[in-house]
Amino acid sequence: MIQHRTPHLTIFESALYRTTSTVLQTDDIVLVVDPNWLPAEISGIRQFVQEVQGGRPLFLLFTHSDYDHILGWRAFPQAKVIASKTFADNPDKEKSLEQIRQFDEEYYIRRDYPIAYPNVDIGIFEDGQLIELGQTRLRFYLAPGHTADGLFAIAENAGDWIAGDYLSNIEFPFVYDSIHAYEETIQKAQRIIIEYEPALLIPGHGDATSSRQEMLNRCTESLHYLQQLRQAAQSGKPFPEEYLWKRYGNRRGLAGPHRENLEMAEKEKEAGG
Ligand SMILES: [Zn+2]
Repeated sequence: MIQHRTPHLTIFESALYRTTSTVLQTDDIVLVVDPNWLPAEISGIRQFVQEVQGGRPLFLLFTHSDYDHILGWRAFPQAKVIASKTFADNPDKEKSLEQIRQFDEEYYIRRDYPIAYPNVDIGIFEDGQLIELGQTRLRFYLAPGHTADGLFAIAENAGDWIAGDYLSNIEFPFVYDSIHAYEETIQKAQRIIIEYEPALLIPGHGDATSSRQEMLNRCTESLHYLQQLRQAAQSGKPFPEEYLWKRYGNRRGLAGPHRENLEMAEKEKEAGG
């Protein structure tokens, strides 16, 4: 389904995990972000792109290497790929691919394109890196913590901020990389909100928001959750998790990721983090 649509920006939302795929149009390019999940959803995005593309070159942005975000790559074989340098150098490419195969075989999914790990044409390696394509300015920030290879992208012309798997309103932080790095990324997000005043925040799962207060609230909420993770590990007291299920719902789905976060906090404590 389409969650949000303006003449320059369309946010598709998958039925699965409310994962977003953004299509951004400027005078110079069409940019598709993380095209996902189901074959009919991906061909819907592909068809939309074909209808609007005109003569403009097509770019794909991958916000990070989690399998759900990269499984649509080869459905857009003509696109140039933007991702972080860390994404390109990912030592666990095979792991992401195996998760895609696991998912597809579990649900007997048939795709009309091959599954492969994206080749990166434009690698992002530093904070504030700017890619200029004609008049279109794309500004990037490294965003580790969820995974090590995450990226924030800001389309400066309209102020659209693509945040990957951060600042969701329907998920607490999922920490696969490091709690400390996650906190620093959220602090970076706070600076972006103050300095850039983005017009729209687009998370990888859930609702986009144009409210600055809502953007800041999502930062505060993430930091609060991460702090509680750390406290639970350090004090040995149970995490006060009832508020999570009141706040987010989907308890049966979110209990697993929360448990993994607690294990990550334990591991970091033992490592002296
Ligand atoms: Zn992710």
